[in-house]
Amino acid sequence: MSEAKERSLLGLTLQELTGIAEEAGQPSYRGHQIFEGIYRRRLESPEQISNLPHSFRGQLADAGFTVGLPKIEKKFSAADGTGRYLMALVDGQSVETVWMPEGDGGEAGDGSEAGKEEESRAWNRATICVSSQVGCAVDCQFCLTALLGVKRNLSAGEIVGQICAVLNDRNVLLPQDRVNVVFMGMGEPFLNYDNFMKAVRLLVEGVGIAESRMTVSTAGIVPRIYDFGAEPVRPKLAISLNASNDDLRSRLMPINRKWNLEKLMAAARDFPLRARERLTFEYVLLNEVNDSARNAREVAELIRGIRAKVNLIALNTGPGIAFETPAEERVLQFQRILIAAGVPAFVRRPRGRDIFAACGQLKRTVELQTA
Ligand code: SF4
Repeated sequence: MSEAKERSLLGLTLQELTGIAEEAGQPSYRGHQIFEGIYRRRLESPEQISNLPHSFRGQLADAGFTVGLPKIEKKFSAADGTGRYLMALVDGQSVETVWMPEGDGGEAGDGSEAGKEEESRAWNRATICVSSQVGCAVDCQFCLTALLGVKRNLSAGEIVGQICAVLNDRNVLLPQDRVNVVFMGMGEPFLNYDNFMKAVRLLVEGVGIAESRMTVSTAGIVPRIYDFGAEPVRPKLAISLNASNDDLRSRLMPINRKWNLEKLMAAARDFPLRARERLTFEYVLLNEVNDSARNAREVAELIRGIRAKVNLIALNTGPGIAFETPAEERVLQFQRILIAAGVPAFVRRPRGRDIFAACGQLKRTVELQTA
């Protein structure tokens, strides 16, 4: 095996790991043992993969291989049990990953079993919210992450690594423990499509999280919605809508100037849903901007005929954001109008507001607060 600089095993497929084993003169099943060790058993160094011969573990270390888990640099805990992790990557960049025990209240109505099981420990199900890029280029006007701009894409290993690091920190046992993954952290997953999809496959085949327990949220990268619909293995799809007409949406989400509501809703209508699956539309309510009764009626009209539900999220305010949180009565009115029009609508509980872990708040708050 040739000398290599530090190289992560996380992110490599079974085939790629088998190639590494064979290059080192090992039988091909050693690749499978590495795959099991880093994904299913979530070991933290090649040295811990105890079913590999000692000499091969030494060879891997000499060649510069590490598992490549991101380092938990900081961990913040909110009063509601939500945990926000600041994860350090090898190049000094960092991303945030959030742990939400008991789910986020947004799963109901999607046909999943979430929420039906007995309480067996401090949490009986949990959701991990994972980042796909350092920062984000999409520039939604109500989002703290957008203030960072985009610094780079995450590799598949860095995406999977965030989840493994949190699962290890919380002592999660899979498949017994019910864990959902939402790709709704920093970044637009569909602008890092190949790495995101590679991570999905490794999570399903390696870590053991079913595709039906994962949801990806897009701001509306229309060509990728079509690609995603054609994937044989894929999470559920959520579309971040946030406005009921083009004028408003182009103002709040500049991406709408490239792919407007007509194109976006055509992609949503064409999306091949599986049995019992629903599309999710997310709608962040901004006081007196997009939360009127008229807006609600327009949303119902847009969604008519699509098997979908709407998650309503009252804005989580933060420094540098020019919008306000609507009063609860406005949120409930919006929900009532959707339900009356036959659209299932759920108000999502804000999670971890006190530690800036809620939707649209993921960013280097440490950086922000000290700036
Ligand atoms: S809401 Fe999502 S897509 Fe929009 S800027 Fe924030 S992270 Fe990017």
